[in-house]
Amino acid sequence: MGKRLLLLLAHPDDETFGPGGTIARYAREGVSIHLATATRGEAGQTGTPPLIGQDGLGDYREGELRAAAGLLGIGFVEFFGFGDGRLVSTPFDSILERAVAAIRRFRPQVVIGFGPGGVSGHPDHMVMCDIAAAAFDAAADPVRFPDQVQDGLKPWAVQKLYRFEVSQAAFDAWQVPLKGVPADTLTTFIDTSAVVDLKVAAFYCHRTQAKDYERMLSRDGFREFAAQETYVLAASRLAVEGGPETDLFFGIEEEQPI
Ligand SMILES: [Zn+2]
Repeated sequence: MGKRLLLLLAHPDDETFGPGGTIARYAREGVSIHLATATRGEAGQTGTPPLIGQDGLGDYREGELRAAAGLLGIGFVEFFGFGDGRLVSTPFDSILERAVAAIRRFRPQVVIGFGPGGVSGHPDHMVMCDIAAAAFDAAADPVRFPDQVQDGLKPWAVQKLYRFEVSQAAFDAWQVPLKGVPADTLTTFIDTSAVVDLKVAAFYCHRTQAKDYERMLSRDGFREFAAQETYVLAASRLAVEGGPETDLFFGIEEEQPI
């Protein structure tokens, strides 16, 4: 069993706008990567000028995400199919059940999700932060979602849960209204300098979202910023917790008893 990384996110493009460099780097190192996206982004922008009508946007963005996933090296993309912009009003356990099933099926050592501020403050992102935290516990607990266990999915204990986060200072320097965290709360610093071009190429797969990525790509120093992606270690089952890390898989044994 090799290294496996699961991303639990909300919309097509979250994977690229957020941890895209991390994904590309670990994929190139041979890590298996699975992306579970709660919605198909059907309530989002359709492009300027529109590339598709609002009715067809979910399908269109699914295609955009699959193209970006191919570039970044994501092996498998799963859509939960919940309503875009409606996760707050979706029963929490319905989303949690899907997240737990994704964990039990793929059995990742590491999960990446959103932090409590959701980077952009999108309520769907904030819900997915809570889902990731709850799924970290529930996937390992045979009492939770026992139907899955009866169907042959064994409980699975993820070793580490990370939140994709950015230092508030970086956002403040750009004067953008995004939700960062104090720099001294970041725990994990991933060198993504070798894959910045791939991340940028993945942005261009999300053409309906061009307004957003063009704004992001035009910020002063974007490429330097994109040369490192940062995280907060939110939960860990490892005995050892140390100082700043430069590897999401630090301390993880690849072969684990189930
Ligand atoms: Zn999003």
